[in-house]
Amino acid sequence: MKKFYLILTVLLVSSIMLNAGPSNRYITEHTCSKAKSAILRKGCNISEKLIDRGLSQAANFWTSADGSQDEFIDFCTKNFCKNLEEKDHLFERLCTNFETILGHNNRVTIELLRPSHVKGVENLPIDDIFGAYNGLAHFNEDMFNNKLAFIVIMNFPHFTLREKINNGDSWTIRQWGYVRLGDLFTSRAPASAEQNINAATAAAENYIANYNIHMGMVWSDRNIRYWSQDVKLITHWGLRDELKAAYSDPVSGTDKQSIIYNILTRITDQSIAEDVIDKSDYIWYPSTNQTYVQRVEIKGKSENNKRYECLLRNFKAIKASDEYYETDNFITRKFEDEYEISVEQAEKLFREVLSSPQVKEVAELISKRLGRKLQPFDIWYDGFKARSSMDQRKLDSITMSRYPDAEAFAKDLPNVLVKLGFTRPRAEFICNHVSVDPSVGAGHAWESMMKGDNSMLRTRIGENGMDYKGYNIGIHEFGHNVEQTISLYEVDNYFMRGVPNTGFTEALAFTFQNRDLELLGLADNDTINEDLNTLDIFWNCYEIMGVSLVDIKTWQWMYAHPKANAEQLRSAVLSIAKEVWNQYYAPIFKENNQVILACYSHIIVDPLYVSAYPIGHLVDFQLEQYLKGKKVGPEVERIFAMGHLTPDLWLQRAVGQKLSTEPLLRATSLAVGDVANYDKQIKKEKKEVKAVKKRKSK
Ligand SMILES: [Zn+2]
Repeated sequence: MKKFYLILTVLLVSSIMLNAGPSNRYITEHTCSKAKSAILRKGCNISEKLIDRGLSQAANFWTSADGSQDEFIDFCTKNFCKNLEEKDHLFERLCTNFETILGHNNRVTIELLRPSHVKGVENLPIDDIFGAYNGLAHFNEDMFNNKLAFIVIMNFPHFTLREKINNGDSWTIRQWGYVRLGDLFTSRAPASAEQNINAATAAAENYIANYNIHMGMVWSDRNIRYWSQDVKLITHWGLRDELKAAYSDPVSGTDKQSIIYNILTRITDQSIAEDVIDKSDYIWYPSTNQTYVQRVEIKGKSENNKRYECLLRNFKAIKASDEYYETDNFITRKFEDEYEISVEQAEKLFREVLSSPQVKEVAELISKRLGRKLQPFDIWYDGFKARSSMDQRKLDSITMSRYPDAEAFAKDLPNVLVKLGFTRPRAEFICNHVSVDPSVGAGHAWESMMKGDNSMLRTRIGENGMDYKGYNIGIHEFGHNVEQTISLYEVDNYFMRGVPNTGFTEALAFTFQNRDLELLGLADNDTINEDLNTLDIFWNCYEIMGVSLVDIKTWQWMYAHPKANAEQLRSAVLSIAKEVWNQYYAPIFKENNQVILACYSHIIVDPLYVSAYPIGHLVDFQLEQYLKGKKVGPEVERIFAMGHLTPDLWLQRAVGQKLSTEPLLRATSLAVGDVANYDKQIKKEKKEVKAVKKRKSK
C-alpha cells in the first residue's frame, strides 16, 4: 500500500548544509563581493539580492579543495546567468538532464528489483545484490565534484519554508520550479556522517525485525492458551493487528486483547524478559511477567534498555551531523523540510483533535457498541470499518471472473477512470503510462521519474484471478499511479512534479479505494458507510496523534539532554507517554499512567515518521469532503497538476482551505448521531426478528 520514492528523496528534502558553518567558511566575504562586482561588470541584470543569496549559498559549500578564492570568483563570473532569458534556458536544460539522470536510474532500480517484486520472475540469490545496488548512491558527491551543484546553487538558491509560505502564493509556477530546483543541493554531508546515520538506522531496523513474540507460549491468567505454536507476531504491528482482529471474537476477544496489551506495555517499559523475545523455550504470563519451563518458574533477565539504546544511537548519529546544517536540529529538518509544516503547526492540529469534545462522544458510542466500559486498548477499536453487506466469497468470485490476470485488470483501467468522470481520451492517456504486474508482496505503486516511462502498479493476483482484497489494493495503488502520471506530465516543469508530501498521494489512493465497490457496480446505497468511515478516521487520528506527540516530545527531550544514557532515556520516554496519556486519554479510559503510546516501532526505527500518518488522514479527509457530489476526474486532473507546492498553498488552491481539523471534527459530530441511530435501528430489527421466531416456534 506504499508508494515508492526513489532513494534520492532524502537528498531532495534535506536542508541547507554548511560546509563548516557561515562563520568559518573557506570563502571570505571579500571574495563574495569581488565575485558580485565581476558578475555585475559582465552586464548581469538579475536582482542584486538574488546574486547575493546565490553567491553566499555557493560560498558556504566551497572548500579549498574546490579551488582558491580567485578560482571561486572566476567560476561564479563564468557561470552566473546574465539575464532572465539565459536563466530560463539553463533551467530548461537542467530539467531535461536531471529528468534523464533520475528517470533512467529509477528505471534501472525498478528492473533490478523485478525478481523480488513481481510474481513469476525467478528470484536468484544474486538478485539480492542487484536489488541493493543504487546507481545514484554518490549522486550528491558527484554533482559537487563536477561543480554542477555550484551552478545550480548560485543561479537557483534555496528558500526557507517561511519564505515559501510567505511568498509562495505570488510566485508563478515557473518561479516555483526555480525554488524547487533550489531544494536539490542543500547538503554536502561528509560521507562518514551519512554512514553513521545509516548504520544506526540499520541496527534499529534489525532489532525490530527480529522482535517476534511466539504467541503459542503466551498464557492467560486463567491458564488458557489462545494461539497455536506457529503464531509469531512482530512488535508492534503484528501484535496491534492481532489485537484489532480480536474485536470480531465475541467469546475470548477481550481476554486476548488484554494479554496483547500487557505484552506491548512490557516491551515499551522494558520489563519483558529477554528469554521470550523471538524464542519459544518459556511459557510466559504477560500480566505477572512470570516465565516457566516445565512448571518450574525461571527468573529471567529483563531486556534491559536495548530498545532505548537503539533510539539513543539514532539520536547521536543524527545529532552529530547537526553542525553542518543551518537549521538547528533534526526536528526542524524533518517537519519544515520534509513535511513542510512546522512542528508547532503539527502539534497544534494534533492537540485540536485530542482535546475536542468529539472524543468523548465517539468514546461513549464505542462503549455502547461493545457493551462494556472502555479499556485502554480500545484506542485500537476496529468496529467502524465500513463493511460491504455483500458476502466476501461473492465479491471474490466477481473480481476473479472479471480479472483473471494482470492483462485483464490493465485493460479495464481506462473504464475505471471513465466511471470516475475522466474523459475517454484522458483515461486512455493516463492508462497508457501505467503498467500492471502481479506482485510478490501486498502491492505497491512505483512512480516513474521521466516522461515516456511508465509507473508500476503491483497487486496480488492469484492462480484463479484477482480476489477482492487484491482488487481493493489494486484500486488503491491505481490512485497513486494516476497521481504519479498527472503530477509528472501536467505540471509546468520537471522540478514541480509530485505532491507536497506522502500524505497527499495517499489521499488520492484512498479516494480511489473508497469507491472500489461503486466501480464494480455494487455500490451500497447505505449512507451509513460514509459515517462509519468518518468515525474510523477520527478514532485513528485520536490514537496516532497521541503517538506523534510522544515521538516529538521524545526528540525534544533528547536534544535538551544530549548526554543522557539509555536508562535515563527509557525513564523519560515513559514519563512523556504517561503525561500525554494522562492529559488526553485518562479522562476517557479512566485509567492513569499508561505507557502504550510509546509502543510504536516507528519511534525506534524511523525517527519522527509517525506524524506523517495523521497529516495524511487530515489531507485525505479534506479532499474527500471537497469531492463529495463532484465529478472526481476533472477535479483530480486540476488538483494534481499543481505539483509540489507547500501543503497549505496546495490545499488552499485544491479545496479552498488550508490544512485543518475542522472538516473532520464537523463530520464526526454528525456521524456520531447517525451511527447511534443506525445502531438503535439494527437492535430494534434484531429484536423483532427474534420475537417473530419465538412466536413461530410456539
Ligand atoms: Zn498507498
